[in-house]
Amino acid sequence: MTPSGSAKGRVIIIGGSMAGLFAAVTLRSLGWQADIYERAGEALANRGAGIATHDELYAAVRDAGIDLREEMGVRSKGRIMFDRDGKLLGRHDLPQIMTSWGLIYRFLRAQVDDARYHNGHTLCGIEHHGDSVVAVFENGARIEGDWLLGADGTRSSVRAIVAPEAPAQYCGYFGWRGLIDEALVPAPVLADFDQRMAFGMAPGGHWLGYLVAGPDDALQPGQRWYNWGWYRTATAATLRDHLTDASGRHHENGIPHDLIRGELIEALRKEAHAYLPPQVQSVVDATARPFLQGIYDFCAPRFLYERVALLGDAAATARPHCGMGVSKAAVDAATFARALDEGGAALEAWQDARLAYARQTVAWSRDLGSYIGPQYDDALQRAKGAHHQRPAVLLGATAASDYQRYVYR
Ligand SMILES: Cc1cc2nc3c(=O)[nH]c(=O)nc-3n(C[C@H](O)[C@H](O)[C@H](O)COP(=O)(O)OP(=O)(O)OC[C@H]3O[C@@H](n4cnc5c(N)ncnc54)[C@H](O)[C@@H]3O)c2cc1C
Repeated sequence: MTPSGSAKGRVIIIGGSMAGLFAAVTLRSLGWQADIYERAGEALANRGAGIATHDELYAAVRDAGIDLREEMGVRSKGRIMFDRDGKLLGRHDLPQIMTSWGLIYRFLRAQVDDARYHNGHTLCGIEHHGDSVVAVFENGARIEGDWLLGADGTRSSVRAIVAPEAPAQYCGYFGWRGLIDEALVPAPVLADFDQRMAFGMAPGGHWLGYLVAGPDDALQPGQRWYNWGWYRTATAATLRDHLTDASGRHHENGIPHDLIRGELIEALRKEAHAYLPPQVQSVVDATARPFLQGIYDFCAPRFLYERVALLGDAAATARPHCGMGVSKAAVDAATFARALDEGGAALEAWQDARLAYARQTVAWSRDLGSYIGPQYDDALQRAKGAHHQRPAVLLGATAASDYQRYVYR
């Protein structure tokens, strides 16, 4: 076991992505010793692809040390939607900066000493010993600290131990995704997209795409990436099939893109040609290696369990339509660090505030996605679905900060 090495105390953070990094940076700035233990054996790559930004995210990044607003991503003028024949169906002005998961990750990762970021550590157990907590890892390591933070994502091992009654729920659809060099998108198509988030409608889920920072976080035209996603309604059995490689191995936590079976990618392209605007078909065709992610949501009943706290997607995962995942992870982590530092009743107040925010965000994301996935024989659900499928609502409410404007007008 490793003894506490800081005057204020030692915090063990499980998961070295958004929530874990924001927590480590804020805790360190307050004088705590914070060590991250990450399952992945090497630096995390562009797993999240494109990320819509909100004021909460800028504030959290600024609190973490740097005002990145100007250099954080690609400016988008708003949104634009095309019908099946490629004709304009709607346009909505909403200036926003679209960043990439990798850009934020690299910025935060650079703020954490290598000696405090431990790759190749998969948590498998937690022991409580009086005023301390011990993290047990599959590689045999046992680390003692004053607090343990579960920042280990939607399928959190920490949550499975402290709150096994709150598993993530599959929403009945998954997202095909792509991240390609913008030079692969035909120039007339990029011109049609008009520096906006582009939408195409299809039965069972919409397509959307936008430009994000390219390799080495390049923001210059010609050097960026085009990021897209297409939600597809699918049973749990169909999702399982898509996560199974040619050798029959099932990758429950996500299939590496190079193991996705060729016939599934062929079927994706055929469906794109059947349902999506021609502009969008060209983007899908240009994507040699699409990848896919199942869509899950849930909210844990509490975020505090003795000396364990849940943050980010481990605490509550909203569907991606609200584009709030990284902002929520950042604010969960930074506000937890300040509450821990303050002590007393601050942690309970933190839990109350973040639970309320998470419940509201998950509910909003369910409304936004209510027309995708299985449709229930319930008049209210059908009305919600019809409302959120309207082009004006979809264009204005997707990944918008001021969503109250779009609720049941
Ligand atoms: C299709 C899609 C689109 C999205 N679009 C947006 C968007 O536009 N804007 C936005 O803000 N968000 C978006 N998100 C959500 C965003 O990616 C997540 O909310 C965010 O990454 C959550 O960060 P996190 O640190 O809580 O969890 P994660 O990023 O999931 O990180 C968890 C980390 O924990 C590690 N880990 C897991 N188990 C263990 C273990 N047992 N031991 C040690 N380490 C472990 C994992 O390897 C991982 O690094 C999107 C998500 C999806 C699926």
